[in-house]
Amino acid sequence: MKVALLSESPADEAAMRVLVEAVLGARPRFISPGFRARGWPNVAQLLPAVIRHLHFQTDTDSLVVVVDSDDSVVHTAEHERPDYFHPHCRMCELRAVFRRTAKKLPPAHGRQRVLRGVGLAVPAVEAWYLCGRDVTVTEAAWIAGQASGRQPYSRADLKWRVYGTDRPSLPHEIRCALHEVERHRRDPRRLESDFPNFGLLAQDMRTWARDRNHDEKSFVTAPRSPA
Ligand SMILES: [Zn+2]
Repeated sequence: MKVALLSESPADEAAMRVLVEAVLGARPRFISPGFRARGWPNVAQLLPAVIRHLHFQTDTDSLVVVVDSDDSVVHTAEHERPDYFHPHCRMCELRAVFRRTAKKLPPAHGRQRVLRGVGLAVPAVEAWYLCGRDVTVTEAAWIAGQASGRQPYSRADLKWRVYGTDRPSLPHEIRCALHEVERHRRDPRRLESDFPNFGLLAQDMRTWARDRNHDEKSFVTAPRSPA
């Protein structure tokens, strides 16, 4: 299993490697270095080119993309209904980009498509880092704050709690991120339940082995399309 990551910083990438490994229960081969975007909407703008590059130029199986929700609409169970799409939800948008891009690509390197892993960190990845350490930090708390107009914490608060500053140096950021995700390495279920949008990423990852086998079969047996 070869996995590529598209994230916003080397610290996010280092932490995501641990979380991907935690969910898969095994260490995949990571494409190194990962792909970098400068926040939203840059992630969504770069994603089609990254998917096409991985599909045609590499034999990468899966691509994991993680973005912060910031103040945007949080993806909820309502958005999971078939054919539902929320135009201001970053999870809905990134999934749509995967769908639209993959639909146009012919099979390559023995597979139909690069498999999807999309995660939405609500409101920022530091909230995931605090999971299991600070019980007040959950996706539900953030959504309740959006509904009432009273934020339970700001993104800067989260940074202070994780890094002890809102402007960490990169080495300090990486050190703190890795220290915090260590809690989830053995068992990511707390993170999945406190942060359902991490749970959806984990759900994507758990379908990879199944979808990859399915793709391999259909690739072998699919009739050749006319040239
Ligand atoms: Zn959504």
